[in-house]
Amino acid sequence: MTDSMNMPIAARLARPELLELTPYESARRIGGQGDVWINANESPFNNNELDKLNRYPECQPVSLINAYADYSKVSADNIVTCRGADEAIELLIRAFCVPAVDSIACFGPTYGMYAISAKTFNIGVTSLTLTDDYQLPNAFAQQVENAKLVFICNPNNPTGTIMDKDTIEAAIAAMPNAIVVIDEAYIEFSAQYSVADLIPKYPNLVVLRTLSKAFALAGARCGFLMANTDIIDLIMRVIAPYPVPLPVQQVAEKALSANGISLMQQQVEALKVQGNKLSATLTEFGAKVLPANGNFILAEFEDVERVADALKQAGIVARAYKDNRLASRIRFSFSSPADTDRLIATFNTLGK
Ligand SMILES: *Cc1c(COP(=O)(O)O)cnc(C)c1O
Repeated sequence: MTDSMNMPIAARLARPELLELTPYESARRIGGQGDVWINANESPFNNNELDKLNRYPECQPVSLINAYADYSKVSADNIVTCRGADEAIELLIRAFCVPAVDSIACFGPTYGMYAISAKTFNIGVTSLTLTDDYQLPNAFAQQVENAKLVFICNPNNPTGTIMDKDTIEAAIAAMPNAIVVIDEAYIEFSAQYSVADLIPKYPNLVVLRTLSKAFALAGARCGFLMANTDIIDLIMRVIAPYPVPLPVQQVAEKALSANGISLMQQQVEALKVQGNKLSATLTEFGAKVLPANGNFILAEFEDVERVADALKQAGIVARAYKDNRLASRIRFSFSSPADTDRLIATFNTLGK
C-alpha cells in the first residue's frame, strides 16, 4: 500500500477493473488512410444538408476542444466534452466509484443530480449541510474522508450563493485523497470565481462546465470536464464512443467563436439587469432573497402558498421545493424583460 501513495490520484481512486480495461476502439478512433471509407458500417448516402451527417462523428472533436481551451484558458489536454455537465457527473461516478462500496459527498442544499446519479449506480451519498451563510461546514474534510468524489457547486444551485476562490482552493487542498469536483455551471455569471486556472496545481481537482446556461444551449447537451490528464485518461475509458453529435459540435463551436462569446457576455449582463429588477421587487414585496451569483434568485416567502397560487394564475412556472430547508422558497430564473415585467406585475397585484 505504501507504493500506491506514489501513484497518481486518478489511478489510486479508479475502479480497479478500469485500469486493466482496453478501451473500445471505434472504427472512427482507429481511423486509416484512404478515400474509400467502408470500415464503420455507415451509409454512403448523406440525405441532409449538414456535411458528413452519414458518418460517425469524432469522439472528442478537436476543433470543439480547442475552442473551449481558448475560451477557458485551460489546456486542450485537460478537457473532455460530453453530453452536458450531467453526463460528466455520471462519468466521474462510473470511473471512480465501486457500486455498494464507495460513496460521494456533497453539501446541501445543492444540485440534485450528484445524489441521484450516485444512487442510480448504488453509490452511497454523504450529504453535509452548508452553514447558515451557505459556506462549507466545520470539519467538512474529516466528515467526507471516505468519499471518492466530493462535489461543490459554485455558484451554488439553487441558492445562488458563492464561495470565495480562496475557500474553494483551501477545500481542494484539504481533501488531497478525494477527487474534488467544482461544478461551475453558472461561472459565466461570476467569472472571477473560477478555479479552472488551478487545474495544473491540483491533481485531485475537476472542474465541470456547460453550454446550457450562459451560452443559451440547454437543448444542445454540451458540457465539459476539465482536469489533469490522469483523470482525463480514465474518463476516456468510460465515455461513449461518440458522445458529441455532429450538429451539436457545430452549434457549440459557433457559440464559442469570438462573436458567440461576446454575445454570451452581453446576454449575461442583460440577464443581470433583469435579475436586479426582480430582486428589488421581491425585497419590496417582503421576501427574503439570497445574493444571486448565477442567473436565478432564491426567495423565501412568508406565505409561499399564496405566491405559488398567484404565479400559477399568471401562467408563470418557477421552481418550488419540497426539501425542508427550502420549503418556503421559490427559485426564479432570470429571463427576458417581458417575462420579468410579467413577474413583477404579478407581485405588484399581490401587494404586501
Ligand atoms: C444545469 C446544471 C447542470 C447540468 O448542466 P447540463 O450541461 O445541462 O447537463 C449541472 N450542474 C448544475 C449546478 C446545474 O445547475
